[in-house]
Amino acid sequence: MRTKKTLNTLATITLSVISTYFLMGVSAKTQTARPQPAADLQYQIGGTLYMQKAAEYRSLAYQAFNLARLRLDADLDKKNIKKLPKAERRMPRAIVVDIDETILDNSPAQAYSIANNAPFNLKDWYAWGEMRKAKAIPGAVDFLNYAVSKGAKVFYVSNRDEVQKQATIDNLKKVGLTDVAADNVILRAGESSKEARRTAIAKTFRILMLMGDNLDDFSNVFEKRSIADRFAEADKARENFGRNFIVLPNAMYGTWENAIYDYGRLTETQKAEKRMSALELP
Ligand SMILES: [Mg+2]
Repeated sequence: MRTKKTLNTLATITLSVISTYFLMGVSAKTQTARPQPAADLQYQIGGTLYMQKAAEYRSLAYQAFNLARLRLDADLDKKNIKKLPKAERRMPRAIVVDIDETILDNSPAQAYSIANNAPFNLKDWYAWGEMRKAKAIPGAVDFLNYAVSKGAKVFYVSNRDEVQKQATIDNLKKVGLTDVAADNVILRAGESSKEARRTAIAKTFRILMLMGDNLDDFSNVFEKRSIADRFAEADKARENFGRNFIVLPNAMYGTWENAIYDYGRLTETQKAEKRMSALELP
């Protein structure tokens, strides 16, 4: 009885697999000669190679950290301190930095994802983090260690998960950063917004600059906004860039891409369609 039932089930599955195969084959042939695979991440190759192989990317990273050092040196100048409100003069200095694609380079994880047609997923992401193999973004270590040597407190505010904390601390130490501990590596315990974490730091420190590859690393005015709104907010904040907001390039991923998808949970095919329709043509 059980054998017969199993055979019946097997026959049904086989039939449905065969019919699906032929149906898909027919519809694919009628639509296009070359059907797309489920997760085609080829579009990420350009952004990933730009980070890994372009000396221009490296130069932009140096430019960001050189500028950060200029801003810090200006702040260390006693003449400038007098321009601050009295209450703030006594507060210790802090520099708030994001981690991924700001201090650590995760492009090998992105390359792995492309090579395996595996869109971002926590299993692969955690596995990469556990390896502690991320290299530093060019210029990051020299600048942050310089800031620490001048008495500034560096806070690493990242949306990595709490479970990744030890591996993250280990990786930051491994690249040569001098002041890395459980209390200044502040990961995501609850909400993804970094606003509350920035506000908590600002209670006891004067945050003289923020560094990140994503506008959400700077202010909550950019969070979950449309492309047009993100442009408008960036225009409003233009005086901050290169002063207290120092931006690193990241063409691999980011909220800029989520905005193209209207922050929706889309299939890879739907995402590809959104990307194509977002292109501005002549
Ligand atoms: Mg980042």
